[in-house]
Amino acid sequence: MNLSYSALSDFLNCPYKFKLGYIDRIKVPKSPLAIFGTAIHSALKFLHEPSHLTPPTEEELLKFFTQQWNPENWPSQEEADLNFAQGVEILKNYYAKNYPTKFNIVNLEFPFRFPIEYRGETHYITGRIDRVDKLENDQFEIIDYKTGQRMPAQSEVDHSLQLSIYQLGVTNLWPFLKESAQPIKLSLFFVRHNLKLSTKKNSSDLEETKESLISTIEKIKEAQKLNKFEPTPNRLCDYCNFRQYCPYFRQKEKPIEDQKVKQAAQDFVDLKTKKKEIDKKIAQAREIIEKYLDQKNLERLFLENKAITRLPQKKISYDEETIREILQPLSKWTNVVSLNNKKLKELFETLPLDVQQKIEQTQKETISKRLTVSPTVK
Ligand code: SF4
Repeated sequence: MNLSYSALSDFLNCPYKFKLGYIDRIKVPKSPLAIFGTAIHSALKFLHEPSHLTPPTEEELLKFFTQQWNPENWPSQEEADLNFAQGVEILKNYYAKNYPTKFNIVNLEFPFRFPIEYRGETHYITGRIDRVDKLENDQFEIIDYKTGQRMPAQSEVDHSLQLSIYQLGVTNLWPFLKESAQPIKLSLFFVRHNLKLSTKKNSSDLEETKESLISTIEKIKEAQKLNKFEPTPNRLCDYCNFRQYCPYFRQKEKPIEDQKVKQAAQDFVDLKTKKKEIDKKIAQAREIIEKYLDQKNLERLFLENKAITRLPQKKISYDEETIREILQPLSKWTNVVSLNNKKLKELFETLPLDVQQKIEQTQKETISKRLTVSPTVK
C-alpha cells in the first residue's frame, strides 16, 4: 500500500472520504480554496527557487501570482476578487518578513517515500515537503506552508502526525540526520497570519508515530476486508470535495420529492422543537409547584377538573462492599454487577499497556442511529 499523509489523514477523519478518493479513485474538481492554496504554494516556491541569480522583487512575485490566477475557479467574480486581494496581501506580508537571502534553503517541494513493515508486508508512506532549510549550527528545518485561516494550539503542532511523517521521510532520505546532535526543527508556517509554529520530535516520538502508522494501516486493511468505510462528519466537511457522493450532504441540492416524506420531516422538526420548549416549560412549572407545595406543606393541588399529586418515590440502595462479601462466596457477585463504560474509560488510561491491549481486544462496536434536528448545515 502507498499512503500519503493526506490519505492517512482522510482515513482518520472520515474513512468514507478515504474510500472515495483512494480506493474508488473518484476524480472531483479541486475546491476553490484548494486551488488558492496551490497558487500561494507555487508563488512561494517561485520566490525561493535557487535558480534565480537574484531573488525576485515583490513586483515579480505578485506578477507570477497574477499569472497563476484564474477567476473562473471561483463561483462569482466577487469571491474571485476578494480572494485575489487576500492572496496579494499574504504574499506582500510574507515578502516583507521573509526575503529569500535570509535563508539557506536546501530543498523545495521534494518528494519522499519510506517503508513501514507490517506482518511481512512492506507499505510505503509518501509525501512532498514544501521546504527544508539548513539553519545555523547545522540544524535542519522542515517547513510546511498552511494557507487556511485556523491557527492551531502549540500542543496540536507538538502532536502533528504530518510533521512526524515528514521527519521520518527526511531522515529516510538523509540517514545522517538521525545521528545529528541537533534535532530537526519542524515548522508549520501559517501564511495568512505570517506566523510559524515549530516543534521537535525525539526518537521515542518517532517510534510512536511508526506504531500509530502501523495501527492505521491495520485499520485500513480491516475496513477493506469488511468493505466498511463509515462516513464521519467532522470539521473538515466544509472543504470536502466529495459532498455530492456523501450521504450526509448529497441530498442538499435536491429538494425532497416525496410529499409524504417532506411532510413527515417537517412534522418531525416542528414537534422536536416544540418538545424542547415544552420540556423547558414543564421543568420551570415543576420548580414553582414544588416550592409552593413545600411552603404550604401540601402534597396535592386541585385544579378545576385535574389534580397534581406529589407521590413519594422509594429508591433503594445497598452498601456495595457488604453485598460483595455476601455474594462473592456464592459465586453470584458477577450476576448483579454490570460494566460501567464511563468508569472503565477513566480507568483505561491508568492501566499498563498490555492490560489496555487485552481490554481493547474484547471491544465490540455496535452503531445505532438516531434522528437529530440541527440548524441547516452549510
Ligand atoms: S462531507 Fe464529511 S462526512 Fe461526507 S465524505 Fe466528506 S468528510 Fe466525510
